[in-house]
Amino acid sequence: MFENLSERLGGVFDRLTKQGALSEDDVKTALREVRVALLEADVSLPVARDFVKKVQSQATGQAVTKSITPGQQVVKIVHDALIDVLRGEEEPGALKIDNPPAPILMVGLQGSGKTTTTAKLAKRLKDKQGKRVLMASLDTNRPAAMEQLAILGTQIGVDTLPIVKGESAVQIAKRAKQQATLGGYDVYMLDTAGRLHIDEVLMDEVQAVRDVATPRETLLVVDGLTGQDAVNVATEFDGKVGISGVVLTRMDGDGRGGAALSMRAVTGKPIRFVGLGEKMDALETFEPERVAGRILGMGDIVALVEKAQETLEAEQMERQMKRFKKGLFNMNDLRDQLEQMLKMGGMQSIMGMMPGMGKMQKAAAQAGFDDTMLRRQIALINSMTKQERARPELLQASRKKRIATGAGLEVSELNKLLKMHRQMADMMKKMGKKGMLKQAMKSMF
Ligand code: GDP
Repeated sequence: MFENLSERLGGVFDRLTKQGALSEDDVKTALREVRVALLEADVSLPVARDFVKKVQSQATGQAVTKSITPGQQVVKIVHDALIDVLRGEEEPGALKIDNPPAPILMVGLQGSGKTTTTAKLAKRLKDKQGKRVLMASLDTNRPAAMEQLAILGTQIGVDTLPIVKGESAVQIAKRAKQQATLGGYDVYMLDTAGRLHIDEVLMDEVQAVRDVATPRETLLVVDGLTGQDAVNVATEFDGKVGISGVVLTRMDGDGRGGAALSMRAVTGKPIRFVGLGEKMDALETFEPERVAGRILGMGDIVALVEKAQETLEAEQMERQMKRFKKGLFNMNDLRDQLEQMLKMGGMQSIMGMMPGMGKMQKAAAQAGFDDTMLRRQIALINSMTKQERARPELLQASRKKRIATGAGLEVSELNKLLKMHRQMADMMKKMGKKGMLKQAMKSMF
């Protein structure tokens, strides 16, 4: 849903994370590009400007530019700022529908996907929360719209209020309330009439319906593809009728997605759901964390950092740090690392969280590089003696065979492990000498 924006930002951050050191100017240049990318995605100018300003003030400090992974730090700051701009106070998908029958008013322009969304939401309430739902179309000008809702109702197994010709919207709303009460429904949804543009007559009618129905939720359905227009429509509707949340439809398209980012900041109203297709179950709750992850398209670096913090016990880390600083890295250290990886949820989950690793994850799994492999490597190390673990370079062919057999594996696998260890030990030695490691560990964990 945010392909273009995601691609643009991905490019900016790829360059940033590849650079070893970052100056404040590098960060500023990158953030200028972020701003352009946001504007191209049709995020409103004040929102884009505020966003970049906020990130800039946090990202240009010494702690970031002087850290060993400055690019990633900047990405994390952007990630958190994105969540901030998207999040409302309410749980996105949780609707106030206690005290049955609870009225939900659906409002929006014609063609926004209002009727479809009404049915999708009714289906969701029925399937996920076991609610008895009654739907009513108030679109007295368009008999076709009323029939459309009735057809959808049959399709999803949700009741619709029988159509009575010649009634006004207010009369239908009253009848819906009556039927919902008598029929023991938990929720009744009022699908109001849409117009092509906002006009007084439409607003008067919606207000009148609102006054008789006193809805618990008034959800505005807007077409996400219309970008800033969607935000303007929301501002208007909120001013005239008062809305409790927004449903953005057509987010399955390759639209620019800016509406999603501006909505909360401009209107103060949260996005509650997003429509992701024409099918009846193509409706998702709007989760800021997930959306920010998708926009950045870089896996969940934040989760990786947080997970590492949780699992790496301070004591163990200190012990490792001391050894690493001296450039020491034997088989026990390698085993600690492998066990750490397993604890963090295994190869698959770690790779899934690392930038650009999403695709590699599949390839690695196909090549057999997975948790089983981690466990085998640990088993190999366990079947070595203490001395061998400390000085694996002294291993003779006969011992190698015994170790492999002890772990129930082939010598070739042990050789692979030894090679990997040698490479890592070399790296540690180099980093230890340069004193880079301490910084690296600090900035990572
Ligand atoms: P209304 O006039 O606002 O009631 O709009 P409708 O509910 O009749 O929807 C208009 C068209 O948009 C229909 O063809 C729907 O199938 C389609 N539509 C609604 N929501 C979505 C969505 O989230 N994604 C896509 N791709 N199409 C949608």
